[in-house]
Amino acid sequence: AKETGKGRTVVYSMRESGPPQHDISLEAAMFQAVREGEFLLYYQPIVSSRTRRIEGFETLMRWKHPTLGMVPPVRFIPIAETNGLINLLGAWALKAALVQLRQFEEVAKRDLYISVNISPRQFRNDRFLHVLDDALGFSGAPGDKLVLEITEGTLMIDPVHAEAILTKMAERNARIAIDDFGTGYSSLAYLKRFPISVLKIDRAFIKDLPASTKDGAICNAVLDLAKHLDLSVVAEGVETEEQLTYVESRGCDYVQGYLTGKPMPPHVAMAALKENLYT
Ligand code: C2E
Ligand code: CA
Ligand code: CA
Ligand code: CA
Repeated sequence: AKETGKGRTVVYSMRESGPPQHDISLEAAMFQAVREGEFLLYYQPIVSSRTRRIEGFETLMRWKHPTLGMVPPVRFIPIAETNGLINLLGAWALKAALVQLRQFEEVAKRDLYISVNISPRQFRNDRFLHVLDDALGFSGAPGDKLVLEITEGTLMIDPVHAEAILTKMAERNARIAIDDFGTGYSSLAYLKRFPISVLKIDRAFIKDLPASTKDGAICNAVLDLAKHLDLSVVAEGVETEEQLTYVESRGCDYVQGYLTGKPMPPHVAMAALKENLYT
């Protein structure tokens, strides 16, 4: 941040490149942003790889700052995770996404589901189940319309606690997806122990398909594993027809990526549903 001639503080963090930094002025701006309602939710289609029909959406948070423009989540989520603001933002996102889902279903005139990212700190928070019940109650959405995306790391911090929470989630019929599958430091044993429904193959294993034989082998192994464990699989970051054909031909149920739809504001998502873009 720099002082301008007028004595105002301007955040320049957006224009810097390199790894995310915990910028004090960005943090201060976040509290202001909560008060001003600058946080938004975008929705990225999750598409059946076979029919290309939209089956659900992943909820992705955006921060539209009046002068900085769109601050990417890689910049603000880690800060919110550190200062605890993620609990507030996450609770809001869960509720708003479930409310949005009902509108999406009204437009589509069929069942859809909504996927929401849960950060490690949210997952560990004592009030998390309360937040979940509050969002389900407020929206009136049945639990089986909700997928909660957590990473392997979130599970591994405290597996005993994780098992208890996941069991409670399963009681509410919410499904659990392992986000960025294969990139965390963990064993596969948790797939046996925890009630998991979905694996999301990280973009890192998709982006060099079909050329990379190693990535191909990893994807095949994950799809095979998922098939035998009766899990569904979402391939993340699918950008080309070749990638879609590759994963589809190997039994991957769902794809999510720029090819079938970027993250978009609700009205654009509803237009996509109306136009039946991917049917
Ligand atoms: P993620 O959960 O792995 O989300 C997928 C990211 O990949 C999104 O980035 C999405 O825009 C991007 N993406 C999707 N398809 C493609 C593609 O074809 N090519 C490329 N290059 N990228 C693609 P985004 O929206 O910038 O979010 C980044 C991360 O921030 C998310 O990764 C997630 O970890 C976190 N995040 C976003 N929204 C939330 C939220 O509401 N709560 C929490 N806790 N974390 C969030
Ligand atoms: Ca995710
Ligand atoms: Ca992911
Ligand atoms: Ca990721």
